[in-house]
Amino acid sequence: MQKLVVLPFLILLLACASSPERKIITVNGLIQPEKLGKTLAHEHILVDFSGAENYHPENYNRQEAFDRILPELEKLKQYGVESFVDCTPQFVGRDVVLLKRLADETGLNILTNTGFYGAQNNKFIPKHVFDMPAEAIAEFYIAEFDQGIEGTGVRPGFIKTAVDRKPLSDFHAKLVRAAALAHKATGLTIMSHTGPALPAFQQLEILEQEGVAPEALIWTHASDEKDWANLVKIAQRGAWVSLDKYGWDEDYLKGEVLVYLKEQGVLNRILISHDAGWYEPAKPDQPIQPYTPIFETLLPKLEAQGFTSAEIDQLLVKNPAKAFTVGKRFLNPSN
Ligand SMILES: [Zn+2]
Repeated sequence: MQKLVVLPFLILLLACASSPERKIITVNGLIQPEKLGKTLAHEHILVDFSGAENYHPENYNRQEAFDRILPELEKLKQYGVESFVDCTPQFVGRDVVLLKRLADETGLNILTNTGFYGAQNNKFIPKHVFDMPAEAIAEFYIAEFDQGIEGTGVRPGFIKTAVDRKPLSDFHAKLVRAAALAHKATGLTIMSHTGPALPAFQQLEILEQEGVAPEALIWTHASDEKDWANLVKIAQRGAWVSLDKYGWDEDYLKGEVLVYLKEQGVLNRILISHDAGWYEPAKPDQPIQPYTPIFETLLPKLEAQGFTSAEIDQLLVKNPAKAFTVGKRFLNPSN
């Protein structure tokens, strides 16, 4: 009799304990990581470079942006792409209403973000943020996670922050600390626009001080680091290494760095994407940089160099599913 009562209870307890760790947040709600499928882990729908003080959603016509971007997203279907991570943060052109319309129209899973973008010398940071303590900045991110973005109910699937391509300033160190604090509260992965390895190593130190594991960090624009040994070092520490200039660099599309990283045994920490796209309000007629060179050029080159379909799946399916699964990643799991 006792067994009969205890067993369903145990099953329920196990289900409750495991399910919060197994979800990805898209603009249309939660999905299981297995449903993410082939994913572009770093792209942009809309980018407005006017800066935080001049940024207004009225700067552009949402319908026009929708009409320009839709055909580019439709092209992804022939390559079996199911998910698209939009990395444009607030005050740089994040428009979750537009993202949701595009997700509904195309059937793609689209992820959006919360976070402040400090790169380009803080041009995209509103004045009131500079004096906020890290805790208050984190509270803002956590509120978007809990309540949704700008009254839409759309929730962020990751934290996006950005630092300049040099040693971290005090303010950028604070942005990284805020992201670490928000990670501890929400389990959202931190995607940090970084570039060279030096500020990436500094960010791992800050995470460490906060007790957050490297697995919580995506080192974004790692493709700008010249010394490939640093890619291996950071991957071996457990952080995600994002090679995301495949939309812009003919030479990179030859795939040499991926061949090297495969030899080093770290493909399980690598994300690839184009960092392409975008509708730009100030230049509405500018061509949209396509989201397809990985499929048209890079993958055939990788296959010719011995990459198996399992290895390509690792880069485009398995790694993104793991990287964007919400879950708190502590250095000391007993924390
Ligand atoms: Zn980007």
